[in-house]
Amino acid sequence: MSRTHPELKTPPALAEGGLRIVALGGLGEIGRNMTVFEFGGKLLIVDCGVLFPEEHQPGVDVILPDFTSIRDRMDDVLAVVLTHGHEDHIGGVPYLLRERRDIPLVGSKLTLAFIKAKLEEHRIKPVTREVAEGDTLDFGPFETEFLAVNHSIPDALAVAIRTEAGLVLHTGDFKMDQFPLDRRITDLRGFARLGEEGVDLFLTDSTNAEVPGFTLSEGDLVPAIETVFRTAPKRVIVSSFASHVHRIQQVLNAAHAHGRKVAFVGRSMVRNMGIARDLGYLDIPKGLVVDLKQMDKLPADQVCVICTGSQGEPMAALSRMANRDHVIRISEGDTVLLASSLIPGNENAIYRIINELTRWGANVVHKGNAKVHVSGHASAGELVYCYNIVKPRNVMPVHGEWRHLKANGELAIKTGVHPRGVVLAEDGQVVDLVDGRVRVTGKVSAGNVYVDGATVGGATEASLKDRRNLAEEGVITVVAIVDADTGLLAETPDFLARGFVHDEGTFDSVVPLIEKALAKAAEEGVGGALQLEQLITRAVAGWANRNGRRSPMIIPVVIDA
Ligand SMILES: [Zn+2]
Repeated sequence: MSRTHPELKTPPALAEGGLRIVALGGLGEIGRNMTVFEFGGKLLIVDCGVLFPEEHQPGVDVILPDFTSIRDRMDDVLAVVLTHGHEDHIGGVPYLLRERRDIPLVGSKLTLAFIKAKLEEHRIKPVTREVAEGDTLDFGPFETEFLAVNHSIPDALAVAIRTEAGLVLHTGDFKMDQFPLDRRITDLRGFARLGEEGVDLFLTDSTNAEVPGFTLSEGDLVPAIETVFRTAPKRVIVSSFASHVHRIQQVLNAAHAHGRKVAFVGRSMVRNMGIARDLGYLDIPKGLVVDLKQMDKLPADQVCVICTGSQGEPMAALSRMANRDHVIRISEGDTVLLASSLIPGNENAIYRIINELTRWGANVVHKGNAKVHVSGHASAGELVYCYNIVKPRNVMPVHGEWRHLKANGELAIKTGVHPRGVVLAEDGQVVDLVDGRVRVTGKVSAGNVYVDGATVGGATEASLKDRRNLAEEGVITVVAIVDADTGLLAETPDFLARGFVHDEGTFDSVVPLIEKALAKAAEEGVGGALQLEQLITRAVAGWANRNGRRSPMIIPVVIDA
C-alpha cells in the first residue's frame, strides 16, 4: 500500500488526460466527507460534510473542510454530488455556497429535500438537480451515473464517474442489508456491470472495515423494540438520529401496534419527519401522531415520545430531559430507548445522560443492554464481496480514521488488488490517476476550519489551545503599575485569579521575581509596555510551574505611573 510522505508539497500540474482526486475531509476522521475530482481543468465535488467537535475543541459548533485549495477555482466547479442526507455529507454545503451561490447540487429526492430545508435556515435557495438510481448525467468532461445503495438513511446513492482518465466508482456510505424496510438494496448488479466495464478506481466506505462478518439487517431490531413497547409500564421515550427514517418507522409501527400515540420532539426531528412523510418515505398511520399538549391528556402507558439527542448533544431534547430542563419530566417507570449508535468521542456525554435518566427513575434501554441498533456501514464481509464483484484496478479507502482506512486497504489486497494499487491518503493529499495508475503527487492545505457561533475560520488551533488551557489551568491577571522614570514597580502588583487555586498569601513569593525582572530590564534599558508585559508573563509562568507544576494563562497589564 502506498502511503503518506510527510514532506509532500504543492503538486505539479496534472498530467494531460489524468484525473486528480483530493479528499478535503473524511480521511483520518469520521466526518466532513468531501472529495474533489479534477479533469481537464474542471472540478466535480462529491459530498461536503461537517465534523462534530470533540471535548478537546471547546466552544466549536462544527468543523468544516478547508476550501482554501479550491477557493480561487469556484467557477470551475461544475456540481456537488451529495450521496445522501447525513450531516457529515451535506452539513458543509451552506458554507461552500457562501463561496459561490449557484453551484448545482445533485442528489436524490430525500437528500435534496434535507439540504434545501437546511439552506432555508441560511436563507439560501440552491440550484438543484434531482437524480435517482439508474440516471446518468453529464457535467462537462464528467459523465456521472447513480446507483442505489442501502444505508441508515433512505435514498442513498453511489456515484460512478467516467472521464477519459477512466471509470471511478464512489460508494458513498453504504451497507448491504438484504431486507431493508423499503426493499431498496445496494445495486450489486450495477456494481458488477461497472466491474465488467473495468473500474479504474474504487473509493469505498471504510467505517466498519475492522468489523468482521456482515452488518445485521434493520429488521433484526424488531424483537428488541417490540419488547420495549410490550413491557414498558409507563411512557416510552425514544431517541434516535433525526434522519434515521427507517429506525423511526420501526418505532412508529411498534407504538401503533401497542396502542400508543406518538409525539415528535426536537426541531430537526419534527422538520425531517415532516419532510420524510410528505415525500412518502415515512408511513404514519392516521391519528398516530399528536402534539405534546394532546399527549399530556393521555395515560402514561399510551404515550410515546420520539426525540433528538441520542449522541448526548447538550442542547438536544434528551440531554435537557436528563438535566430537568425540558417540559417532559422523566419519572419513575418511564422507559427511555436509545435506538442509535454511540459515536466515538460522545461516550462520556451519553453515559452521563443514561446515568441521570436512571437516577430520575427511568429504565434506559440502549445498544449496550439490548439489540436496539445496527450500523449503517458495510462490515469487512460486505466490503470483500464488493471487491470481488467490482474487481477494481485501484482502491482508495475513504470515510474513516487511519485504522479503518488501513483495514479496508488490507481487505482489498486480500481479494487480489495489487498493493501498489491501494492508496491510503490523508486529507489534502493529491492522488493522480494517470494511465490507469494511482500516485500521490502532492498535498494541499486541508486543516480544520472551525465554526464558532457566527464566525467561520475565526477560531484557530491556537485559540482552542488557549481555551483548553483556561479550562484546565485557570488564569492569572497581573496588574503592575510601573514608574515611567525608573522602570520599577510603583506599588505591589495586583493579582486576579480565576480557576487557579490560591489564597491570600499565594502571590507573595512571585512579587520579588517580578521586581527582579523589571530591575534587570531597567538596567538594560528595556522599557516598552509590551516588553515589560512579556517579562512579567515569563516571571509568573516560571513561578507557577516551579510552585505546583501549573501553567495558567497569564494576562499582564502594565500601567505607567
Ligand atoms: Zn452516512
